[in-house]
Amino acid sequence: MSPGKPSILVTGGAGYIGSHTVLALKQAGYDVVILDNLVYGHRDLVEKILQVELVVGDTCDRALLDDLFKTHSIDAVMHFSAYAYVGESVTDPAKYYHNNVVGTLTLLEAMLEASVKKFVFSSTCATYGVPQFVPIPEDHPQNPINPYGASKLMVERILADFDPAYDFKSVRFRYFNAAGADPSGLLGEDHNPETHLIPLVLLTALGKRESIAIFGTDYPTPDGTCIRDYIHVSDLADAHVLGLEYLLKGGNSEIFNLGNGNGFSVKEVIVAVEQVTGKVIPVQERDRRPGDPPTLIGSGEKARTILGWQPQYPNIKDIVAHAWQWHQQRHK
Ligand code: UDP
Repeated sequence: MSPGKPSILVTGGAGYIGSHTVLALKQAGYDVVILDNLVYGHRDLVEKILQVELVVGDTCDRALLDDLFKTHSIDAVMHFSAYAYVGESVTDPAKYYHNNVVGTLTLLEAMLEASVKKFVFSSTCATYGVPQFVPIPEDHPQNPINPYGASKLMVERILADFDPAYDFKSVRFRYFNAAGADPSGLLGEDHNPETHLIPLVLLTALGKRESIAIFGTDYPTPDGTCIRDYIHVSDLADAHVLGLEYLLKGGNSEIFNLGNGNGFSVKEVIVAVEQVTGKVIPVQERDRRPGDPPTLIGSGEKARTILGWQPQYPNIKDIVAHAWQWHQQRHK
């Protein structure tokens, strides 16, 4: 390890979960360098709020990676950059396999060349596909039903093989539904295009959209709409710092689900938004969206036990309230 504060390379640090984690890393005293191609990331966020070094480039660019590792003394890598639109992954799988698998493998090879062997990886509950039971533990079978989930599972497999072969240690986090915003209001969710439920309902509350579409009301759930486990983005960020510390202290490779173990239906989320914002949300009931499992709920027990992770905001109303604060500010 380099003398002084450990230096962490964060790919995708200008994006949603990456930026919240960079903030948490800074607060925990780490030096951070961000690598982001700015396809979906935000330069002004890095320059004005995070104020860390930004290298603009792609994980598929091996020459750039080699140069980055030569010019910076990096102790560990956190890898957030990926394409993550499930629907697009179905219509354009090549884009997903190229960026998410080839890009990650290129990064991993550059890390090996530079002898950097600690890696925190953003995987997803989409690797499980349609679960056989919930809450989902880490050893639940993985049968992804879309190329996005498959691309992440391929990287998980690569990481499993890298450990015994190269003594390469990784923490693989399988996120459930990241939501909310930094409670201080500094950071939040700013996707373009936006496809996620909570921001879309909030944009409806703000009058930026006329209504929210409910994708499917005939699922085998109590109210017929899909159930998801929403996890506060700042709680995800904390888990990443804990996962990093675990690796820096010599921890073995591990896989952790990051979920609250509580599910909320689409209709329940809309009610929570109505309660937080005081607005009535017009809804339109639509057909199911392809690739959506009925229920995804994750057990975060292992992360609690091994990493000491304690989510601060498991309540859906806090998650929605922080996101609402951000969206109001963002669209002033
Ligand atoms: N959803 C919906 N209307 C929307 C966007 C999402 O009904 O406009 C549903 C979606 O079908 C899923 C849930 O909300 O069941 C969460 O979707 P999101 O895209 O936020 O996250 P995902 O579960 O796809 O990661």
